[in-house]
Amino acid sequence: MPLRCPLCKPCDSSSAPPKVGDVNDIDEFGYHSYRCKKDGHAPRTKHQHDKLVLIWERALRHAGFQILHEPRGYLVLSGKRPDIIVADRQHLFLDVRTCDPCLQSQVDNSITSPGSAADRGTNDKERAWLELVEAQGDSFTALCHEFPGLIGDGGLGLLDKAAARYSSSNKQRAAFKAYWLMRLHITHTRGVAETLRHRFPFHDDSHLSHFDSGSFLVHRSPFSETLDLPCARPGTTATPLRLHETGFSDIRNAPPSFHV
Ligand SMILES: [Zn+2]
Repeated sequence: MPLRCPLCKPCDSSSAPPKVGDVNDIDEFGYHSYRCKKDGHAPRTKHQHDKLVLIWERALRHAGFQILHEPRGYLVLSGKRPDIIVADRQHLFLDVRTCDPCLQSQVDNSITSPGSAADRGTNDKERAWLELVEAQGDSFTALCHEFPGLIGDGGLGLLDKAAARYSSSNKQRAAFKAYWLMRLHITHTRGVAETLRHRFPFHDDSHLSHFDSGSFLVHRSPFSETLDLPCARPGTTATPLRLHETGFSDIRNAPPSFHV
């Protein structure tokens, strides 16, 4: 049964299989949901980009740097505003970008070179920022996070600098990096999940005229119907958690098999 995107709803079930990354490439795994620009990437900005900016700021403050959040007026030759400035004798301008390795223009490179989407994001950012920033004697680093979790070289290098600022002990530096890498990955993963949560594709059941199409907005979950979670307070209830109570499904008692 064809899949439809709840935002752009393209669907051409009569055509040959779509090319990866084109408008009809609707999949069950979230790649189209991540890529879809119908709403202007607002969820991606809110749940991923903005959260990543904040977690980078916390990591850099933890290292001892003075941080400016989205400051205005620090670029002499432009009105552009970076996500972060690390304030020092020479300011370090930082700008965060989320990168999609499954864009049609990118997917071939991503297959052979994981991380190439982050590299491309870095090139785009440096083209936009580097000349302007270096012209006034400052420096620039792009912080690129590739779906679903790879961090670009600029970000990893900055984390090395932050660890070096944090401590002269190699063990302490390693602990600092392990902690903040984990926080960065968790932040990105949660942002991706939150972005996808409200734009899962649904099965196009328009040809099933005897069913109410509104009943089939959630395709079958890959998880079992119930989760056998141990009850922390056995006296309270022994009933297993129903799937809709976990947040994996928005519809109570959704028919389990019609849309398989
Ligand atoms: Zn879409």
